Amino acid sequence: MGVRLPCVCGRLDRRMVASAGTTHRRRTEDAMAFVEFGGAGGIPSAHAPQTTRRVEPQRRARRNAAEWSAATRGLTLRRRRANAVAAPIRASADEPVAPGSASARMSAISEQDLFLNQAVPGDVMVRTIAQNGMVTVKAVRATGLVAGSCSLFQTSPVASAALGRALVCALLLSCGKKSNETLNLEFRCTGPIRSIVAVSNGQGEVRGYVGNPHVVLPPNKDGKLDVGKAVGEGILACVRNHPFWKNPYTGLVPIESGEVAEDVAKYLLDSEQTPSVLGAGVYVNKEGVVSAAGGFLVELLPEADEQTIALLERNVAELGMSPTELIRSGKSPADIVEMLMRDLNPLQLAESTPRYKCSCSTDRVKRTVALIHEDELKSILEEQGKVEATCEFCGRRYNLTEVEAWESFNAARANE
Ligand SMILES: [Zn+2]
Repeated sequence: MGVRLPCVCGRLDRRMVASAGTTHRRRTEDAMAFVEFGGAGGIPSAHAPQTTRRVEPQRRARRNAAEWSAATRGLTLRRRRANAVAAPIRASADEPVAPGSASARMSAISEQDLFLNQAVPGDVMVRTIAQNGMVTVKAVRATGLVAGSCSLFQTSPVASAALGRALVCALLLSCGKKSNETLNLEFRCTGPIRSIVAVSNGQGEVRGYVGNPHVVLPPNKDGKLDVGKAVGEGILACVRNHPFWKNPYTGLVPIESGEVAEDVAKYLLDSEQTPSVLGAGVYVNKEGVVSAAGGFLVELLPEADEQTIALLERNVAELGMSPTELIRSGKSPADIVEMLMRDLNPLQLAESTPRYKCSCSTDRVKRTVALIHEDELKSILEEQGKVEATCEFCGRRYNLTEVEAWESFNAARANE
């Protein structure tokens, strides 16, 4: 399942030649992305050109469709009249409660209140850097976090694997970043899962959801959960942002395997010019319960020398197991980092606690309402006398009265 990704970085050309043909491959139930620190040389045309771009500031963006989409992401406003849909407001309301629908989720939420916003014992994330500053390694065990989020959405096994892998990848990519720096990973895909979203920050907080939590597919040819088919084709969009940055940093890469970690590693290489080894896995047992989840990320820094790369390649090759196999065999994230950093003189580990945290609030719903077109808001209020919104990330439901809705709407207009 390993994938060989050519390095686009010119400074690694020499190594490409030196190590041409060495590819790390694994058979695993996990999405394992093995990015070679070298490749068959050159950049195959099969790889799409780099699509990183800076998002330009937009004036009067309130009514801009993209802004609207971003601002309302994760919040579904509910309409009574089926099919009266003005995107992104989705119809539903008084439909029968289907498993996984917002109403069904609410019953799960009440059972999950203890899970939301709190760390699950046993979940831990560690990171370190080699003494020579050439390699960073991060590892996470997030079994409780992933199991809790899958229980929240009552996901099918393949959806659990997809969501869990995305949550693990988001945690690893945010690990060690500034506390307020956020990462938004979004698979916009054509497969039956429709989308995967994971949002994380430098404090080890993450949240996410999938478009269709109940997708069921036969196993792939290796007998594993077929996440690649659930995802299908499309675009992986990664947005890094920080309150003090002028603009967010956005990277777009085409989805190639759909196995999540492989595509995220490709994003790191193509958009952030960081060669990496990224493994993210979720083990779903026969009862459909997540019993192991976690991963690791090895990143090669620009000044890495031949010796460091050779040691790293050896350590990765000797790891011998997927992330979930390592976790299930009792290896802690610290053990995994130690294996990956053998002979590389790692500095002392920094440890943090990952947790599932949703930032939804009444204020956020009010800000969203302020973005609705006036006619649309009138129509919603005429139909149902209030505004109902459901958070896609945690299932919390919010209600605004007609007075509150208009207050929010008018206050936003007054500030323009
Ligand atoms: Zn929420």
